[in-house]
Amino acid sequence: MTLNNGNLSKGFDRTIKKNNINEKINKDLYKDLFIEALEGIVFWSANGKIVQVNEAACRIFESSKDELLTKNLKDFVYPKNSNFMRIVNQLLERGSIRDELDFLMPNGQIKSLEFTAKLNSVDGYHMTIFRNVTDRHQMEKELRESELKFRKVFEEALEGMILWNEKYEVVDINQVGMSILHLPGKSLIGQSIIQIIEDFNVNKEELYHHSENVRKNGYANGVLQINVTSDRKIYIEFSAKHNVFSKLSLISFKDITEKLEMEEQLKKSDTLSVVGELAAGIAHEIRNPMTALKGFIQLLEDSIQEDHSMYFNIISSELKRIDSIINEFLILAKPQAVKFIRKNIIEIMKETVEFLNAQAVLHNVQIQTYFEKELPLIFCEPNQMKKVFINLIKNAIEVMPKGGIITVLMESASDQSIHISIRDEGAGIPSDKIKKLGQPFFTTKEKGTGLGLMVTYKIIEEHKGSIVVESELGVGSVFHIYLPC
Ligand code: ADP
Ligand code: MG
Repeated sequence: MTLNNGNLSKGFDRTIKKNNINEKINKDLYKDLFIEALEGIVFWSANGKIVQVNEAACRIFESSKDELLTKNLKDFVYPKNSNFMRIVNQLLERGSIRDELDFLMPNGQIKSLEFTAKLNSVDGYHMTIFRNVTDRHQMEKELRESELKFRKVFEEALEGMILWNEKYEVVDINQVGMSILHLPGKSLIGQSIIQIIEDFNVNKEELYHHSENVRKNGYANGVLQINVTSDRKIYIEFSAKHNVFSKLSLISFKDITEKLEMEEQLKKSDTLSVVGELAAGIAHEIRNPMTALKGFIQLLEDSIQEDHSMYFNIISSELKRIDSIINEFLILAKPQAVKFIRKNIIEIMKETVEFLNAQAVLHNVQIQTYFEKELPLIFCEPNQMKKVFINLIKNAIEVMPKGGIITVLMESASDQSIHISIRDEGAGIPSDKIKKLGQPFFTTKEKGTGLGLMVTYKIIEEHKGSIVVESELGVGSVFHIYLPC
């Protein structure tokens, strides 16, 4: 029968079969999709009563299928939610809606669910598809918090920090960084980090060396000297790391100028006090035999034969030199009759310049002075101050064998102190030697003692003042003294 029927109405039968298959496929497909979907699918009737749910919906609503089928969607809406009525109204108005709402699960858990709702989607039933976004929200919250945390660390750090991308463009710089680099209010974002560093007049070779390290090894650290303004150099200690996070690189740095200066000062005063103690012991011991030697050599002067007079001259000039070394030592050794008084320091300088003028003229050197009127009096030991000025002006004369101008300036400085500067037009002092100034026996002169500046530093230190040396090769040097009023 079937066969016959089949034979008779072959064509018709085929179409019916094909339709059936399509229908079946569609049915199966929807069924599969419904069952397997990761999103929770809920069908509900007009008043919100749940009529069909899938597995995922059971998981989301923390209930069994049977339980769910006895419930109403409204049962799950978090009571404190004011959005619910608005959403219902919109759904009725438009027929469909996509939104997000907090739901209360039977176990007391509150879940944030994203959903799409559609009226009359199948057989007159309404459908809502739910997705749990609690985790996503939690993750977003954590991400925001962690970003905030890092931003805080970045901004509140004690060190300056700059972030840059693979095109070497600055992505961010913190406040500390801006103030270390003396760049208030300037925006560096988007500028080339290399250009910025180069603009600070950094030693090109060192910079190249460090950037090669970053490129090859992924990191570099060290100390760089930078010119933050035309007249201010600072030392920064830095550490740079390539690709710290998603193609961003980081450099962190701090200003260690003061620290270095303090270390230098400490080293100097350490040696000074040791030398001072030694000097106390030795100088006196040498002085006595020296006096005898000087006396007897003078006695011998007349009886020296012509051909030995050269030796005699050498002996007496060397004796003089020993004498001057001992004298300088003795200043260190004994804070002898130190009598601090209030004194017009310009007078001391005038006397000194007068005293040294003869020597200056001999070397074709002119001493020009600029004194501010009515400088406050300084509490000082006048003889020692004179010693300081003599040492500095003598050095200035000695550094200009072909003559030149020494400029002496005395003025009041901003912070209740007096500024004295002695400028020469000599050869200048290489930067590595500037550190050595004031160290005992550091001299570059054939007949130098290397004690003059040591004494000078010591005296200024005792007066609670400071010395700053500025020098440019081939141009000259300036010794700045700052004394508190
Ligand atoms: P001395 O004059 O006996 O060498 P100082 O302590 O006075 O000893 O000076 C130490 C060294 O500092 C000098 O030998 C010189 O190299 C350097 N120096 C001091 N003053 C100057 C200056 N005005 N210009 C260049 N170099 C200087
Ligand atoms: Mg000297």
